[in-house]
Amino acid sequence: MNHTYKITNHEYDVLVIGAGGSGLRATLGCAELGLKTACISKVYPTRSHTVAAQGGIGAALGNMTEDNWKWHMYDTVKGSDWLGDQDAIEYLTSNAPEAVIELEHYGMPFTRTNDGKIYQRPFGGHIQNEGAGGPAMRACAAADRTGHALLHTLYQQALKNKVNFFVEYFVLDLIRDIEGKCCGVIAWCLEDGSMHVFHSHVTIIATGGYGKTFFSSTSAHICTGDGNAMILRNNLPLSDMEFIQFHPTGLYGIGVLITEGARGEGGYLTNSNNEKFMEKYAPNVKDLASRDVVSRAITTEVIQGRGCGSEKDHVFLHLEHIDSKILHKRLPGVLEHAKIFVDIDATKDSIPVVPTVHYNMGGIPTNYKTEVLSPDAQNTEKICEGLLAIGEAACVSVHGANRLGTNSLIDLVVFGKAASITAKEKIKSYKILSKIDNNYLNNILQRFDSIRQKNGKIKVGNVRINMQKTMQKHCGVFRNKEILEKGIKEMSKISESFKEIFISDKSMIFNTELVEALELENLLSQSIVTLNSAINRKESRGAHAREDYPSRDDKDWLAHSLIWLDQEGNTKFDTRPVNLNTLTSNIQSIPPKKRVY
Ligand SMILES: Cc1cc2nc3c(=O)[nH]c(=O)nc-3n(C[C@H](O)[C@H](O)[C@H](O)COP(=O)(O)OP(=O)(O)OC[C@H]3O[C@@H](n4cnc5c(N)ncnc54)[C@H](O)[C@@H]3O)c2cc1C
Repeated sequence: MNHTYKITNHEYDVLVIGAGGSGLRATLGCAELGLKTACISKVYPTRSHTVAAQGGIGAALGNMTEDNWKWHMYDTVKGSDWLGDQDAIEYLTSNAPEAVIELEHYGMPFTRTNDGKIYQRPFGGHIQNEGAGGPAMRACAAADRTGHALLHTLYQQALKNKVNFFVEYFVLDLIRDIEGKCCGVIAWCLEDGSMHVFHSHVTIIATGGYGKTFFSSTSAHICTGDGNAMILRNNLPLSDMEFIQFHPTGLYGIGVLITEGARGEGGYLTNSNNEKFMEKYAPNVKDLASRDVVSRAITTEVIQGRGCGSEKDHVFLHLEHIDSKILHKRLPGVLEHAKIFVDIDATKDSIPVVPTVHYNMGGIPTNYKTEVLSPDAQNTEKICEGLLAIGEAACVSVHGANRLGTNSLIDLVVFGKAASITAKEKIKSYKILSKIDNNYLNNILQRFDSIRQKNGKIKVGNVRINMQKTMQKHCGVFRNKEILEKGIKEMSKISESFKEIFISDKSMIFNTELVEALELENLLSQSIVTLNSAINRKESRGAHAREDYPSRDDKDWLAHSLIWLDQEGNTKFDTRPVNLNTLTSNIQSIPPKKRVY
């Protein structure tokens, strides 16, 4: 050991890593259940990516059109292309209405209907009557700033419940005891440079997605999947990492999101011939088909030469036919983004858009109680004691191969609360805190120190951009063996180049260069497992479209993929069955069939 970091120790019942919607809902739930809880976040809580969510949170309240949680379940299973676990989807959709009312009672400022109910808009893939009816107005919205309203509400409630926040603490890794139980984390305080060990009975990972592996992404700079990378470093698997959601309407050239709520309010897409091309690809629901379908349609239009602009590489989103008063009231953020980023007045002109990485369906495998799975040859449902995961970091899996819009925000609050209930239950049997193994701690600090002391020749930013461009080119909307193989080779070189980075700032206080290097290492491991998972799955399902295997293959691939990554960069695969059974007898399971919109 050649580092000399002094450690401050803390003890809690529960630690929540992450203060986005899922982390804050879990933190609040634990505090309400009387557990001694700490929430750790690398950014100020209300700067978490949840704040950027626009369109809405899905729940079958039936305020505007007739609706039913069973239809919500049907749409979610179909949207997932049958890769979602039906017990978890039942749990999500049947608890969704109550979870939204709970948010309302916590003070969330929803947009209202004339008679004072929560306003709901239609969204892609949400349909009445098990896909046979018209659009279901299911997306509960606070204008087009739903995530902002949600995150601030939960943060205020957490403050009211006197939660302990550790803000601008960067978690380096999980700590596990000799039996493999998670017993806390080690974190670096960015403000004063000190190192902290947090001991806990239960640790909840709520660290969000890893959108920043790609060049064009709607994610914030901080979406680097740190929790997922900690799982890989702990020799645990990630699941379904090949499923990356491309949102059809990222602002061309910028990647900033234009919410699907824009099409929910009546917006539509056209190509260079001014054709409303979605009529060809989804004759029933057209522009409100689910995201993978619309993204593939746009990409196909572009590939076949019907893209717009001098490069023929994007399409147009039209809102100018909608009453400008409605646009100002329901989509103020969209108007603002179009003006600020591409200087377009969307009440008069069309907006250039292109599919952009938006969400990670894959992540840390859990059961519906949010317990992290540590599958082995004997038992695919074996759990890792002391460890829960929620939010975009987790793969419960309710989104399967493709997430429906509005289903992430609802996932955050339903499973955030579920994690607090599980934590309370677990703590009854965890009597004393495990003793921490010093070797384990030293290895984590050694890794940190070796990155801090790097004196190579390559800039962190250069490695990051190479990784992002490679992912964009080799792991896009359409994939095939050749393109993925090249991507894997390229990524292994880029990963090697990380060893040659230099860190010019060796200080410990607010060292953003070092933070970015640690985040980059996390992103690299997820890029490797995403590319390898994509080449491994030899079928097309949901967001994973293989040109060389264009059909869904339920015989061989109706299964969750699992992938491990060792220190040398080698991957190992396995699969886990999809749960096609429901949780209760309140609803029958929905057997796989062809997915058409
Ligand atoms: C632009 C945009 C719009 C969206 N709109 C919608 C929508 O309308 N409806 C919908 O359902 N979904 C939407 N989504 C998806 C949804 O917002 C996200 O999936 C969700 O907010 C993720 O929440 P989370 O709690 O998992 O994580 P995040 O909100 O990403 O929070 C992650 C937290 O983890 C912390 N953290 C991470 N790493 C570390 C570390 N190493 N140490 C300490 N702390 C750490 C961060 O500080 C942060 O607090 C949208 C996403 C984007 C990008």
